[in-house]
Amino acid sequence: DAAITVIGAGLAGSEAALAAARLGVRVRLHEMRPQRMTPAHRSANFAELVCSNSLGGEGEKQSKGLLQAELRSVGGAVVTAADASRLPAGNALAVERDEFSARVTRTIREHPLIEVIEGEVEAVPEGITVIASGPLTSDVLAADVARLTGSDRLSFYDAAAPVIDASTINMDIAWRAGRYDQTADYLNCPFTKEEYLAFFEALEQARAHTPHDWEKLEFFEGCMPIEEIARRGVDTPRFGPMSPKGLDNPRTGRWPYAVAQLRQEDREGRLWSLVGFQTGLKWGDQKAVVGLIPGLENAEIVRYGVMHRNTYLNAPEVLNATLQLRADPTKLVAGVLAGTEGYLESAGTGWLAGTNAARLALGLSPLTPPAESMLGGLTRYLASANPKGFQPMNVNWALVPELPVPEGKRKWGKHEKRPILFRRGLEAFMIWARDEAGLQITPPALPVPEPEAV
Ligand code: FAD
Repeated sequence: DAAITVIGAGLAGSEAALAAARLGVRVRLHEMRPQRMTPAHRSANFAELVCSNSLGGEGEKQSKGLLQAELRSVGGAVVTAADASRLPAGNALAVERDEFSARVTRTIREHPLIEVIEGEVEAVPEGITVIASGPLTSDVLAADVARLTGSDRLSFYDAAAPVIDASTINMDIAWRAGRYDQTADYLNCPFTKEEYLAFFEALEQARAHTPHDWEKLEFFEGCMPIEEIARRGVDTPRFGPMSPKGLDNPRTGRWPYAVAQLRQEDREGRLWSLVGFQTGLKWGDQKAVVGLIPGLENAEIVRYGVMHRNTYLNAPEVLNATLQLRADPTKLVAGVLAGTEGYLESAGTGWLAGTNAARLALGLSPLTPPAESMLGGLTRYLASANPKGFQPMNVNWALVPELPVPEGKRKWGKHEKRPILFRRGLEAFMIWARDEAGLQITPPALPVPEPEAV
């Protein structure tokens, strides 16, 4: 009879195991805790939330809200347990963490098709397997995953720079060009001396009150956080990643005093990351400092910079949008290891990997949700993002196709557009789940539209 293996009973692995079992497939679920703990987990519970107790903003204006609704429609285990353990938290899906993990654990332990096997997995086993061992994958297993994918495709820490939504960059100030004869693949934000000094001072201030978790990590020069570069002197950033050399500003015909460059992250050019700006600054400070870059004064950061230990694959080099490894399609990857960031994203990719692993075991072909859905947008991004300096991604609205502006309208307001994207995405997901994946769906209650602002 059909059976699969899942490695890791975290956010992704728990969801994967239950998604596969729901399709009638037997699951061997391996979890190393409590015998062997990770540096962040404290309990033996499955789906333990290691830090915050929030699964993200809710409702039709939130990209996480759309992913929650999609997973609710197919009875996703993590959102179901979250809904049942909910705490009041404004517009966020926050939970009583122990109750939440206990619920997931109980559902798994009581499932007749899931066998839980305690102990560390040292090598990826034969047969259809979902690898969901997370950002703190044990060392031996990480070495074996690297053997499957190539060791240069596995990273052991994040050194991520902020990623900006292109539609919020002021193109009256920024311009597109490469240095000297390079192709024009970069967006460039020019600084005057005064602007640079104000930016530098804000960076210094922010550094002074941010704890430096990353100091315990060893960095190559190429991944040095921007605040650390700044600590070496006022001109160090300007002679490093912020060098203006070879960049003639078309508005002045000269090189600016300094430049911040952005590099394209997705195929459509809707997501851009700040080159050389990997940072561990607190998020509020990042927003303030980035806002001092000319051209980014109103920039929306869709993914903040982080510096921490993290094990993840260079997804665009190794994964299909079905979450199968290209080198061995019987192996699927989910969660942070697959290049996502966040509890909910881990659950979402876990659900898809578990569903696809079960489909493979049943002799059916694996699927990718539609591009308009948040889960489809995320998994397509994983498979197609710019592999150069790839960093784990969380869900955001730039992952789903743009909404065409109706004739006679100049542009969409954010608050008008998002509820439309939400409904479009949820509907596409439910039709796909029902007609292509052949699943039972329960349309989730839609958020009540807010009254028109007077
Ligand atoms: P995990 O939930 O970690 O699950 C992986 C499981 O695999 C673990 O139970 C582990 O014990 C097990 N395992 C590992 N190796 C083996 C092995 N060899 N054999 C058997 N089992 C194994 N995201 C947020 O949204 N909000 C936050 O506040 C947040 N804070 C974070 C704080 C830290 C310190 C870290 C490291 C990450 C944080 N994240 C946060 C990111 C991420 O969302 C979580 O780590 C999330 O739990 C990832 O889900 P996962 O399923 O990929 O991994």
